[in-house]
Amino acid sequence: MKVIRRERLPGIACPVCNTKAMVRTSLQITETMREIRLVCTDDDCDCSFVAQVMVSHIVRPSKKQNPRVLLPIGNQNLRKLPTDGAANPPPQPDLFH
Ligand SMILES: [Zn+2]
Repeated sequence: MKVIRRERLPGIACPVCNTKAMVRTSLQITETMREIRLVCTDDDCDCSFVAQVMVSHIVRPSKKQNPRVLLPIGNQNLRKLPTDGAANPPPQPDLFH
């Protein structure tokens, strides 16, 4: 099992004052979603809030199987910056109609 050090977690800013927030507790809701309780580090704000982290898709398929987890396999190239044609990107499908 990999251990994720806290300083390597992505930062989440307070939604009210945009100051860095610290994770206080977290709870695994499902295999693909975790609820995280955070508190703002600005003592003048002291906001406490909840964020949800959800796995949206698989980038590289696992060598193991879990029949309870069904996730789409994404295209790794979607996150790469275009090397040419940036001014005229190809048309994208309309996902909402
Ligand atoms: Zn705040």
